[in-house]
Amino acid sequence: MNFFLTHISEGKCECSLLILPYYFNILLILCEEKAMLYINIHNHTKAKNDELSIENRYNNFEQITKEGRYSIDLHPWYISAFHWKNELRAMQQASRIPSVLAIGECGLDRQCSVSFTLQEEVFAAQVQWANAIGKPLIIHCVRAWDEVLSLLKKEKNSMPVVFHGYTKNAELAQRIIAAGYYLSFGKALQYQQAKSVIASVPADKILLETDDSAFSIDAIYKLAAQALLIDNNSLSLRIQKNAATFFGAAAFNYDN
Ligand SMILES: [Zn+2]
Repeated sequence: MNFFLTHISEGKCECSLLILPYYFNILLILCEEKAMLYINIHNHTKAKNDELSIENRYNNFEQITKEGRYSIDLHPWYISAFHWKNELRAMQQASRIPSVLAIGECGLDRQCSVSFTLQEEVFAAQVQWANAIGKPLIIHCVRAWDEVLSLLKKEKNSMPVVFHGYTKNAELAQRIIAAGYYLSFGKALQYQQAKSVIASVPADKILLETDDSAFSIDAIYKLAAQALLIDNNSLSLRIQKNAATFFGAAAFNYDN
């Protein structure tokens, strides 16, 4: 208000200056209405009506369609020494469909019974493929952080990378961020450690997900907004920007 009074008193006032704030406010309201959009970057079920969700598939690649949004992979838990090369070929073929937005969750898991050497071979093949077709990577990592980070480096990965379902401490988070990668948070946000970690991460490196939890994506957004001390609309806008940077803006412009 002071700004306009100053200009009026200086004799510089023009009608456009007086009506500008009115239209600007309407614009802000419209932006905020549009802002409440939930992007769920890792989900094992079909998208709900109020979310843009990326559905994960680790098998049945022939069922991938042009509709929807998918990430596909050979998950470390289910690698078969006998079948993985055929499965990789099937995954590679399906991944060319534009509705497949990312490769993963792929990675390394020290808690599963599959040979770690075999996991590394299969993960390396998927990193190479993601780089060959120019799609980002969604990483599954359990107690193998050094190995995942060094494999990505060794393979000269240049695609965006997100570590999904992050539950570890702030120090490790900083190492991942320093490598240029993203962190995706889910149900762990109900706990204090994840709340402090998300608040310590640069806002442009955060993504959100439900994974296979019973939480809805709007509940995850609420937990994240509380932890970040921002309102839901600001968070929604932030995640839209992050997801567009990570997956490419075209990823969210399908009519489905
Ligand atoms: Zn998952």
